[in-house]
Amino acid sequence: MQKKILLLPGDGIGPEISAEAIKVLDCLNKKMNLDIGYDYGLIGGCSVDVHGVPLTDETIAQAKSSDGILLGAVGGPKWDTLDRAIRPEKGLLKIRADLDLFSNLRPAILYPQLADASSLKRELVADLDILIVRELTGGIYFGEPRGVRTLENGERQGYNTLVYSESEIERIGRNAFEIAQKRDKRLCSVEKANVLEVSGLWREVMGSIADDYPDVELSHIYVDNAAMQLVRAPKQFDVIVTGNLFGDILSDCAAMLTGSIGMLPSASLNADGLGMYEPVHGSAPDIAGQGIANPLATILSLEMLLRYSLDMSDAADLIAKAVGSVLDQGLRTADIYSKGMMKVRTDEMGDAVVKAL
Ligand code: NAD
Repeated sequence: MQKKILLLPGDGIGPEISAEAIKVLDCLNKKMNLDIGYDYGLIGGCSVDVHGVPLTDETIAQAKSSDGILLGAVGGPKWDTLDRAIRPEKGLLKIRADLDLFSNLRPAILYPQLADASSLKRELVADLDILIVRELTGGIYFGEPRGVRTLENGERQGYNTLVYSESEIERIGRNAFEIAQKRDKRLCSVEKANVLEVSGLWREVMGSIADDYPDVELSHIYVDNAAMQLVRAPKQFDVIVTGNLFGDILSDCAAMLTGSIGMLPSASLNADGLGMYEPVHGSAPDIAGQGIANPLATILSLEMLLRYSLDMSDAADLIAKAVGSVLDQGLRTADIYSKGMMKVRTDEMGDAVVKAL
């Protein structure tokens, strides 16, 4: 049966970088007879311009009936003065909530050709390939009660609640084990079980489901040590699974190990395997329309879509190889350019990936 992708190019550089990912998809469709169809939809500022809201029910319905969603980026100064309820970023939060995208995958991959872009020493990061699985719809960002109250002595006190139920932990845990099975089969669970009861439960549940994945080696680490290890020896990790707050912080830290935001894809998945895939960066209004944005994070987001939502790892592997190959050839967009390399524009980078395929 034909698989269908919903494309949401969005705003700013979104349409430019999405166009390059589509070239790659068209090429793979032809080369490997993948039979992947695609439709377009509106999200963010472009939807506000047409419909007055950043996300319509029609786009949500399109997303729900697709096998995967590829998003460019949303937002820009044109919409920054709008009422908060209809700003472009609200569309993004709404689609994540409506599709119950509880699992956020943030790879930190450093192609050896770009090792000098990292703030860490080349030997620590060259060939880095780790994946952080972050729980996205629970934990302290959503826990109740929350608020700011006034105490009897008149002092104000802010409070939030870090809460995870067994089923929430098990859901993200199983997801992470399954992902580890598709990689190097090592899963590291990050929490703070020496201090927090919720982390004690997290560790217990992770341990109890491990028996169902005998091929995956599970380890546990406290979050403070995980942060230290990420900058000391990041290559020791394969897949990391953690809660919303710890994942937010650790995934940004891991992303920066790679040096360039223009190279980083991400995925957010629900329990049925439906996922939304997008570059980590935003709509880059400062360079939009100039044809100089790096399309590789979006092309690598397509790679993740093929791997995790369509189960087409052969095609995904080909994309990863092609990206490595264009970097080997010395092609660089402005954001990853260094002396001696060949500076290329957005469409030239996309064309080069297609040629390498
Ligand atoms: P940004 O990621 O858009 O840009 C930060 C810097 O990185 C800019 O200098 C930009 O030129 C550069 N950059 C980003 N992507 C690049 C690429 N592919 N190639 C080359 N350079 C690239 O972050 P920002 O400036 O803080 O935000 C701009 C807009 O994007 C805002 O409206 C913000 O709300 C929105 N935003 C959207 C998302 C999303 O759609 N998921 C995420 C973050 C920010």
